[in-house]
Amino acid sequence: MSNDNRYDVIIIGTGAGGGTLAYHLAPSGQRILILERGDYVPREKANWDPKIVNVDAHYNTKETWLDKDGNDLHPHTNYNVGGNTKFYGAALFRLRERDFGELHHHGGISPAWPITYSDLEPYYTQAENLYQVHGERGEDPTEPPASAPYPWPAVSHEPRIQQLADDFAAAGLKPFHVPVGVMLDETNPHKSRCIRCNTCDGFPCLVSAKADAQVLCVDEAVKYPNVTLLTNSLVKRLETDASGFDVNSVVVERNGNEERFRGNVVVVSCGAINSAALLLRSASEKHPRGLANSSDVVGRHYMGHTNSVLMAISKCPNPTVFQKTLGVNDFYFGSDDWPYPMGHISFVGKLDAVTLRAGAPAIAPNFTLEMMAKHSLDFWLTSEDLPDPENRVTIDRNGKIVLTYAPNNLEAHERLQAKLKQALKHHHCPAHGHDCHEGLFGRNLYAGQRIPLAGVAHQNGTIRFGHDPKSSALDVNCKAHDLENLYVVDGSFFPSSAAVNPALTIMANALRVGDHILERLGASVAERVGVGSAS
Ligand SMILES: Cc1cc2nc3c(=O)[nH]c(=O)nc-3n(C[C@H](O)[C@H](O)[C@H](O)COP(=O)(O)OP(=O)(O)OC[C@H]3O[C@@H](n4cnc5c(N)ncnc54)[C@H](O)[C@@H]3O)c2cc1C
Ligand code: SF4
Repeated sequence: MSNDNRYDVIIIGTGAGGGTLAYHLAPSGQRILILERGDYVPREKANWDPKIVNVDAHYNTKETWLDKDGNDLHPHTNYNVGGNTKFYGAALFRLRERDFGELHHHGGISPAWPITYSDLEPYYTQAENLYQVHGERGEDPTEPPASAPYPWPAVSHEPRIQQLADDFAAAGLKPFHVPVGVMLDETNPHKSRCIRCNTCDGFPCLVSAKADAQVLCVDEAVKYPNVTLLTNSLVKRLETDASGFDVNSVVVERNGNEERFRGNVVVVSCGAINSAALLLRSASEKHPRGLANSSDVVGRHYMGHTNSVLMAISKCPNPTVFQKTLGVNDFYFGSDDWPYPMGHISFVGKLDAVTLRAGAPAIAPNFTLEMMAKHSLDFWLTSEDLPDPENRVTIDRNGKIVLTYAPNNLEAHERLQAKLKQALKHHHCPAHGHDCHEGLFGRNLYAGQRIPLAGVAHQNGTIRFGHDPKSSALDVNCKAHDLENLYVVDGSFFPSSAAVNPALTIMANALRVGDHILERLGASVAERVGVGSAS
């Protein structure tokens, strides 16, 4: 292997985990190679076209996986620079403090994490600054303590959403402004990079105003001369030296050729499903069950949340453009009449008729799809799914991903839906009074694809971290227990999925692990600031 192919750190994947880590390590002067299987998302008008994005699934990977019965699965996931953050809704939540401890759910136990909330708190603050989170502390009744305010004021509610917030408050709930990573400056609309449009959640941002890992992290990292990014570079497997303790070769398929790279430190961040698959594909004589898998947990405990989209139809129209501003966490840990956690209520981006047609909702009486789209409030409900070792990623004999998943803890989600229905009964509009609300209608999340298996947006848990090498694959620093130089920083490390969106926790953890790696490499803070300044 030539010296050109040797690096201090190799990072595989450029999403919430890998992109954030690259940003953090870039100023250190260490030689860093970033390998990404995808390319940049092209900037084109199609970025904001609901048919092309939602119906044709144009930007989704065309790769197919298998379900447990061997049927093809078309995963709703994206391979590109920035990973899934290019398409995310940028709702950037901290986990709740109690999510880090053991929690008793109706469906079983959500296990404790090996770190506490206070271990991650400083990194949550850093991640909120880096990803320009807009929010308001003190509103969300379950929010954990924070050492700093949000860097930006909350994104304001449009009138229909403000009316709903007032109705919820009148019903005794504590609605709050969802923390969002969009580069919106409401005090300077003419200068604001974000134009507050209706094609954000699920779409790439045509004007680069979404706080995603490409724009904010990878683009910044590659300005440093010590950082190299190779796109269209699919990592096929990792090989170890004879001792089996060090990864000494990262095997990459690029431009139809096989290439090999060596890193003193190798960081896997391919997303929870692909990272597990990569380690399993890297089985060898020294690691017969797959790399870093003496515990046999790699690929197991797959979680992805129990999610649903519920459309509340009213006689009053909902002309909201940017809808993802309101959240309700009153039932997150339970309620007076049910002592178990239920989850989180917020919004998806405003649904339109084109997207609805593909998602086939039940039609409200006397409504067309166009009318439903004009009148709906489009809620997003998330409940925690629990880590089950039989819910897992495996690979078939050709190396193809097989995803096996049986939903669990479902009563929590049903109760959450019932709570939302109840809360909406309080809605009292000036024109139609209580008769305004027509009902709640479920919308299929992914057109033409299996639900919920293909909906892998919130994938996590497949390479869990923990103290015990017998029951976890990673130690508290997210280094593989079995290897000296292998780390994982995507959503794989979660021991439990909690019930808020995962990206901010992945970003914060990448910054935490980044500090550990810098220390390991002997890069002092002074060096980090002084060496390798951006060209
Ligand atoms: C439509 C949508 C909306 C979402 N909304 C939200 C939200 O509002 N809030 C929130 O917190 N989360 C949201 N999410 C989830 C969020 O995007 C993910 O949790 C987050 O991006 C996961 O980060 P990651 O680093 O684990 O993986 P990813 O971001 O998926 O990054 C993995 C990267 O690895 C690359 N890769 C994979 N395999 C290989 C390989 N073998 N070799 C080289 N590269 C490889 C991929 O191409 C990709 O770039 C949403 C997701 C989607 C799809
Ligand atoms: S709302 Fe703002 S960040 Fe989102 S896609 Fe539109 S312009 Fe971009």
